[in-house]
Amino acid sequence: MTHVVVLGAGLGGAIQAYELRETLAKSDKITVISNKSYFQFTPSNPWAGVGWRKKEELIVELEPVMSKRGIEFICDGAKKLHPDENRIVLESGREVTYDYLVIATGPDLAFDEIEGFGPDAYTASVCHVEHAEISGNNWDAFCANPGPIVIGAVQGASCFGPAYEYLLTIETDLRRRKIRHKVPMTFVTSEPYIGHLGLGGVGDTKGMLESALRDRDIKWVTNCKIDKFEKDKVQFTEVNEDGSEKAKHEEEFGYSMFLPAFRGIPALMGLEGLVNPRGFVIVDEFQRNPKYQNIFAIGVCIAIAPPVITPVPTGVPKTGFMIESMVTATAHNIPDVIAGKEPKEMATWNAFCLADFGNRGFAFLAMPQNPPRNKNWTSSGRWVHWAKLAFEWYFIRKVKKGVSEPWYEKRIMKMLKITKLQK
Ligand SMILES: Cc1cc2nc3c(=O)[nH]c(=O)nc-3n(C[C@H](O)[C@H](O)[C@H](O)COP(=O)(O)OP(=O)(O)OC[C@H]3O[C@@H](n4cnc5c(N)ncnc54)[C@H](O)[C@@H]3O)c2cc1C
Repeated sequence: MTHVVVLGAGLGGAIQAYELRETLAKSDKITVISNKSYFQFTPSNPWAGVGWRKKEELIVELEPVMSKRGIEFICDGAKKLHPDENRIVLESGREVTYDYLVIATGPDLAFDEIEGFGPDAYTASVCHVEHAEISGNNWDAFCANPGPIVIGAVQGASCFGPAYEYLLTIETDLRRRKIRHKVPMTFVTSEPYIGHLGLGGVGDTKGMLESALRDRDIKWVTNCKIDKFEKDKVQFTEVNEDGSEKAKHEEEFGYSMFLPAFRGIPALMGLEGLVNPRGFVIVDEFQRNPKYQNIFAIGVCIAIAPPVITPVPTGVPKTGFMIESMVTATAHNIPDVIAGKEPKEMATWNAFCLADFGNRGFAFLAMPQNPPRNKNWTSSGRWVHWAKLAFEWYFIRKVKKGVSEPWYEKRIMKMLKITKLQK
């Protein structure tokens, strides 16, 4: 019997466990360890951040589903990984050993890197559903006494999509409440231009997003590095192409949300050969760590070098479809390695994203994610909002049922001519 442990049960980890259940032998044991008892559907957090969703609608308690699928579920945080001893020490003091480990712990949110930043200080967050729920509650209070809004993404951020989504969802909500005219809005970003998204743009995301912001009377400033947040204002520096200072800015706000930089979780920090200096797990093209060959990693926790160096540092987003493709590759590679073969499956790293604006949105497909690409495709309209609703319903149902990839998902991907594995 081989024991495979999946650490983390988010978008990547939960599906990884289900998919491994299908590819591993029945006699092999799978354990999932997560510091939360539930899965959360992170892509809907911007909706929770304006009260359009409640936390209960976006989470799935994992123990009952996992046990039905013959997977052990441990609700406990990892305190320290000891990769030389195949051992994880958990917060409770319990220790778990493994033959193979899949790390899927997502990001640690680096709010502490900027003064006054984050939900424990002066800015809202939609990164976790717990944050988004608080933001949703504070949103009503703001609307009763509206003022300026500043939304954005700080230096080192890699996940820009949700910043645009939250900005435009908020804008839609303000118009519905008929108080948009009372709220000056500014978008402040570390991206070199609007629509860069950490990817050097996809097709005409620059034009499309600039136009969406212009249409909605939202000002923007790019190439920005945040200096500090105070109770009701943000101070930031705009830089030139060469990184030198161009201008100092100060914007007042009554409400603000910024996407933070990400880093690896503390349990992995400093593990030489396993993680980079930011704590992201180093993997080869088979999702396997080169030094610890029984450790695989998927999702936001892996190290990917940015495709383009930007004047203010930015990272590469790791989006849902790309994560699912890492999951599928890993689910095939681990049984191969157990059988004494070399791993051969590689994730496609294609990005397919739906960015919702609350009533409409835009979609893009980047194949592969980093330029130059074989395919850039973008589209916009009301259908994107409906597609996002359908995606939310579908993904939460999939986690509830403990299914990794139903037949209709395969059929849709075939129709769109996209695949999860590199051919
Ligand atoms: C607000 C937001 C919106 C997004 N929207 C989209 C979108 O619309 N489309 C898209 O493609 N991508 C989107 N993304 C990007 C990405 O798809 C998500 O971040 C996704 O949730 C990442 O999956 P993951 O499994 O890597 O990490 P997560 O989903 O964050 O899962 C990490 C898991 O690890 C657990 N964990 C953390 N620390 C520990 C520990 N010490 N011990 C044990 N367990 C631990 C967590 O509880 C969680 O279960 C969004 C990201 C954000 C932040």
